[in-house]
Amino acid sequence: MTEQPLVALNDGNAIPQVGLGVWQTPNDVAVEAVKTALEAGYRHVDTAAIYGNEDGVGEGLRAGGVPPGEVFVTTKVWNEDQGYDEALRAAQASLKRLGLEQVDLLLIHWPSPWRGKYLETWKALVQAQKDGLARSIGVSNFEPEHLERIVGETGVVPVLNQIELHPRFQQKAARAANAAHGVRTESWSPLGQGRLLTDPVIANVARKHGVTPAQAIIRWHVDNDLIVIPKSVTPSRIRENFEVFGFRLDADDLAAIAALDDPEGRIGAHPLHAKF
Ligand code: NAD
Repeated sequence: MTEQPLVALNDGNAIPQVGLGVWQTPNDVAVEAVKTALEAGYRHVDTAAIYGNEDGVGEGLRAGGVPPGEVFVTTKVWNEDQGYDEALRAAQASLKRLGLEQVDLLLIHWPSPWRGKYLETWKALVQAQKDGLARSIGVSNFEPEHLERIVGETGVVPVLNQIELHPRFQQKAARAANAAHGVRTESWSPLGQGRLLTDPVIANVARKHGVTPAQAIIRWHVDNDLIVIPKSVTPSRIRENFEVFGFRLDADDLAAIAALDDPEGRIGAHPLHAKF
């Protein structure tokens, strides 16, 4: 198996730095994607209740030939399930669909501040960890103010914050706010949903290292100490996206990519304004 970096989390657990994302992947396709990824050496899969594919992910995990417990599985509590009892029920339902007794990481998917429930939801995740439903707990799409609030009120620090992050939206302030709490940053839409693959700066860096644009971008995340979950359902691309451990970017590459950062580069919703 390819040797892969693990990132230490603030609760003593560790997460494989590169994982497979499965958003917009129907159940039957997820089975094959997860199986292919495990065969390629991935030991980390990122799903969510709202993706509607936890059944398929669970089936893929069982079909992948990797002993249970050796794959790091993340799922997320959807916004409509926020609230203390609701979130605990949602976590149980996710486990049932996945066919697991415990996930490695349970996240609050969005703060959804207009609902006014993310603090109660965080308290439910703290309980879920105590009850053994999740080995680690964290958040997604949390702005610094949301992080401050849950840490201030509960004293329990999320292990990571999964946020939109790619070369065109580098999230320097959010990364610093996470780091100040000892919270790791995980990049969603790390390839800019594919839009960054034709960028000429990325193409140059890729050519210089004899790798593909996707590999150059994934390596950029790795070299920035980010956890990264590229999505593909195409077997050759799933394998390609994991072949990123034999090279590293140099200072010139990092400077060239740093210049792609754009405050307007966000693709997804703004966590403060999203009304879902
Ligand atoms: P991504 O940035 O990973 O891009 C995926 C797309 O890039 C693919 O659909 C494909 O079109 C293309 N691609 C992938 N590998 C390629 C390759 N080697 N060559 C050419 N094209 C390639 O986009 P994403 O799916 O939005 O994000 C990744 C994962 O992040 C998701 O699957 C999900 O797990 C997670 N995510 C989380 C949130 C959240 O709110 N927490 C939001 C979005 C995504």
